[in-house]
This record gives sequence, C-alpha cells and structure tokens, in this order.
Amino acid sequence: MTLAQAVVAGAEPDELARLDVPATYRAAHLRKDEVGTFDQDEPDKDVRRTLHVGEVPMPELAEDEVLIAVLASAINFNTVWSAMFEPIPTFAFLERFGRTDPRHDLPTHVLGSDAAGVVVRTGRAVRRWRIGDRVVTSPAYVDGEDPVVQHDGMLAADLRAWGFETNFGGLADFAVVKATQLLPKPRHLTWEEAACNMLCASTAYRMLVGERGARMKQGDVVLLWGATGGLGGYGVQLVLGGGGIPVGVVSSPEKAELLRRMGCPYVIDRAQFDDLGEEKAWRRLGAEVRRLVGEDPAIVFEHTGRETFGASVYVARRGGAVVTCGSSSGYTHEYDNRHLWMKLKRIIGSHGANYQECHEVNRLISLGLIHPTLSTVYPLTGAAEAARAVQLNQHVGKVGVLALAPAEGLGVEDPGLRERVGEERLRLFRSH
Ligand code: NAP
Repeated sequence: MTLAQAVVAGAEPDELARLDVPATYRAAHLRKDEVGTFDQDEPDKDVRRTLHVGEVPMPELAEDEVLIAVLASAINFNTVWSAMFEPIPTFAFLERFGRTDPRHDLPTHVLGSDAAGVVVRTGRAVRRWRIGDRVVTSPAYVDGEDPVVQHDGMLAADLRAWGFETNFGGLADFAVVKATQLLPKPRHLTWEEAACNMLCASTAYRMLVGERGARMKQGDVVLLWGATGGLGGYGVQLVLGGGGIPVGVVSSPEKAELLRRMGCPYVIDRAQFDDLGEEKAWRRLGAEVRRLVGEDPAIVFEHTGRETFGASVYVARRGGAVVTCGSSSGYTHEYDNRHLWMKLKRIIGSHGANYQECHEVNRLISLGLIHPTLSTVYPLTGAAEAARAVQLNQHVGKVGVLALAPAEGLGVEDPGLRERVGEERLRLFRSH
C-alpha cells in the first residue's frame, strides 16, 4: 500500500509513519520554459494553456515544516494571476526565494494556497502537530524568528503567499507547509468544504474585523464589491454575523438572488452602472445606496481595483474607510482626492491574515457560524478548467478541487454539528 492509499483508507498514524514518502507526486504546476507563452497584450490569456497536471519531484522537508497528504484544495485568484504570468511570472518569486532556500527555485511551480488534508510527516522542530492530524492550511508563509511576527505576522519582511510566492502549494496530492500555517480541520465539514475557506475567509476577516482592518462595529453599513465571489461570500457573512448592514454588489440577477438567500438585505446589480470610472456613475451609486439604506457606507470592501476604486472612495461616508486587498480590474487606481481629504476618509491596505486571525476565523467556521461558499468541485486533473472558470468570472463563491479524496462528501467527523448547522446553509452556494 502506498502512503497516499493509506491516507485515503484512514490508516493509523504509526502506519502512515512507516510507509515511504514517494519520490514524485501529482501536482498542478506551471513550467518555467513556458513563461513567454502569452504576448504582452494578448486579450485572452487562457490559463488552460499554462496550467498542467503531472508528476513533480518531492522536496526535502525543513525542520519547521510539515508534509500533508492533500485530500482537497481550492482555486484562488492568485492561481489565475500565476498562470497568466501576470503581473510578473511567479518564477521570479521562486528565484529570489531560492537565494535563501534553494529547494523552491525549480523549473516547475506547484500552485495553490488552500488545502485540507492529513499530516504525514513533521520536521524535527515541529511540536504542536502529529502524523495523522486532520488539518487545513493558512496561506501566510513567514519566518517565525522575525521579531515582528510576535506583533503581526503580516508585517514580516519575508512574508510569502504559500503556493504563489513559494513552491509546493496545495493543488496537489502532497504539499509542504510551515507548522505555523496549520489549523485543525472543522469537524463537521467534508474535505472539499474544509479546503475552500481559509485564504478568502481569513483575508475578509482581517479586512473587516481585524485590529488593523476597518474594525467594523454593530450597525455599520458595509458596501461589498463582488459580494458572491471568493472574498465577498465570506465578507457578507462576517458583516451579518457582526451586526453590520451589508450592501452587496453583484453583476447578475442570479447572483442577486443568491445574495438575498444569504440574508443580505440590500443588493445592487452593477450592470445598471455602465461606466464606474465616471463621477456621474459614482453619484448614481451613492444615491442608490442612500435610497436603499438611508445612509452612506461606513466601510467599503474593495478588491476589484481600477474600475471601482474611484466609486469606492466617493461613496464611503464622511470619516469612513475603504479597505482594499486587491485590484482584479487593474492595479493603478485613480480617484478624486478631494472626496478623501475633505470628508476625512481613510484607505486601508490589507493583505492576507496573520496566524491568530486565521485561528479566529477557523474557530467561527468550526463552530458553524461561518459557512463554506463552495459552489463547484473539479478533480485535480481538471485544475486548469477550474481556474479557467474563475478567470472568466463564471463561478460564485469558491471552486473546489479534489486531490486524494476519491469522491465528494467524505471527511465529516461531527455529523451532529453538521445536522444542527443544516445542509441547506452548508450547500447554499452549491444550489446556485
Ligand atoms: P473572485 O472569486 O473572482 O471574486 C471577485 C468578484 O469581484 C467577482 O465575483 C465579481 O463579482 C467581482 N468583480 C470582478 N470584476 C469586477 C469589476 N471589474 N468590477 C466590479 N466587480 C468585479 O475573486 P476573489 O477570490 O474574491 O479575489 C478578488 C481579488 O482579491 C483578486 O484580485 C485576488 O487576487 C484578490 N485577493 C487578495 C488577497 C490578499 O490577501 N491580498 C486575498 C484574496 C484575494 P460580480 O461580477 O458579481 O460583480
């Protein structure tokens, strides 16, 4: 029996420890010799041309690392960026990292920043985790010896997004993570439900709730772009759970309906605003929010970038905040600074989440207070199709990927909690 087969069969930890780690493993990866695939201004940089699934070499494990057998993973937007080689090829990150850790600088880049699985090996310095533990991963890869990590891990000078700025990511049968990326798998969730949450849920948590984010309080009106997308699906839940008032923006009646079913009281279809780059459209959006809610947003949840940022700065209320973690539509933003300074607004940059924030949001998920937003599941062999769906914005919530898990629906350890939470809530995005 192979190590992978033993994991799938639910073998005991001592058996997992006895079985050999394979010399190669199956992974979704990019190839360095394909970096020039797309012309600079090619209109459709189709990620299916560059994202391959095949065998890659198994790396050595460092002392503070853990090897996990991945049962399931999920697509994040960073995999789309990587596979387009935009804004720069991620092999540049690996080369730089390779100066201090040569293992990462390879002709292949294994992608993926989310995973759920079983620990199969631990480095010598790992104390809190054991072979056989069922885990999910957080994406922040930081050096625990950097003093600032004790203040806020996201301020670490060598912070890297795992599976984007590092090799050996989660879209694979095995993955290498630092022990400080591990969290216990929520026991009421299946492997694919457990694997889809952490990157987006923790990023949304830091943006909205975290001490360095917008610090939402009860009654705050929060405008969320992409409210049924990867980040937005968790953002809306966090606003509702924290007593805020979400105003969700989406781009179709179907997504609007899903948002209402999530309990979002105010929904705006952005299709009615033809050019959000114009101040006229900002004013119409602001008027629409006032018409719906009666006041301006205290917080605007931004990740959409160039096409929406001017509007976001405009519609935030006097003294309000725009919190941003990304720029899907372009990262050079224009906004009218008068609207910012005259009304004492703030722009807050946010990135990922530190280990403690990941624990906080994993706790909410484990208690059944925040739910997965999984909408579709692909096999690992279909990882490129899965990423393509996200690239084309054809998805809602999260797109899952099965790695070693032979089927969907496996891995639930607490059926009682699952029943109390209810299939309807857990599968809300799947019914879309
Ligand atoms: P996603 O699942 O693709 O969702 C994004 C949503 O944004 C879509 O559902 C879409 O909703 C909306 N959208 C797309 N283009 C838009 C536009 N031009 N104007 C207005 N809305 C638009 O992606 P995600 O996982 O939420 O990630 C979103 C962005 O945040 C990405 O750029 C990603 O790289 C970044 N991100 C950063 C971090 C970090 O830590 N820094 C973490 C996670 C994600 P509608 O079409 O329904 O409006």
